[in-house]
Amino acid sequence: MSVFDRGILLGDGVYETLRVHHGRIFRWREHRDRLLSSLAAAGIKPPYPPAVLEAAITSLVGANQLQGARIRLTITRGEGDPGFDPMPGKEPNTILAASPWHALPQECYQGGVDAIIASRRQTGSDNLDPALKSISRIHLVLARLEATRKAAQEAILLGSDGKVREGTASNVFLVKRGELKTPSAQSGILAGVTRAAVFELSTQTGIPCTECSIAPETLAEADEIFLTNTSWGALPVGNLDGKPVGSGRGGPVALMLGQKLTELVERECAP
Ligand code: PLP
Repeated sequence: MSVFDRGILLGDGVYETLRVHHGRIFRWREHRDRLLSSLAAAGIKPPYPPAVLEAAITSLVGANQLQGARIRLTITRGEGDPGFDPMPGKEPNTILAASPWHALPQECYQGGVDAIIASRRQTGSDNLDPALKSISRIHLVLARLEATRKAAQEAILLGSDGKVREGTASNVFLVKRGELKTPSAQSGILAGVTRAAVFELSTQTGIPCTECSIAPETLAEADEIFLTNTSWGALPVGNLDGKPVGSGRGGPVALMLGQKLTELVERECAP
């Protein structure tokens, strides 16, 4: 790749993180649709038909003999000159990377992880729209570094209205009196593939789930909080800003939904 690739120079590109289990991509259609919508929002022409990308991912995992893999698919606008203007005639670059799948240690799920409310706010749909899964993520990296400084695993960002949006790399759910709540997709978040799967599981298990505006104080008073993404599944938060959430450990709803998510991946990616 050119050292003048705009992904490197400007963070000018989009990406997806996918899970491959038994050689099959979990929820490829959902990732594909989100990728296409990120590309459209970024004004980058899709470099390959989705079926070609899907086949490339599968053969990459096969060539590396991985049973379970985490795939990073990045598409940049391609080579530019060192300034902002695109170079005429240059095509997007596509990068696929596979690494072995590792779940987090079981203690993280049983005991819950520590999270903080970041001092940095999430961007909005009027600037760097979080729904566009762009590789420009330094604001999220800085929020995560704040979490690391405070010995926490994840930072939860508020929006410009002071309401909860999402983690640096995760969606946020709370449980209160047996019901689930999560910020709405319209509020300015990345609508996670795992988040959508949790919606399905909540319907199947009869747990009411609403998308709504959540104040940080409401989050702090929840019976349970959990974070979702492709890598973590449903990860309970034991402490928020140093104070226990509910029991201070993984709660029953998060653990049950996490188990159901694991079963869903097994079922849909059965060999
Ligand atoms: N929110 C943000 C900011 C993310 O970066 C991610 C995943 O990378 C998610 C939410 C969760 O998305 P998914 O469940 O599709 O992995």
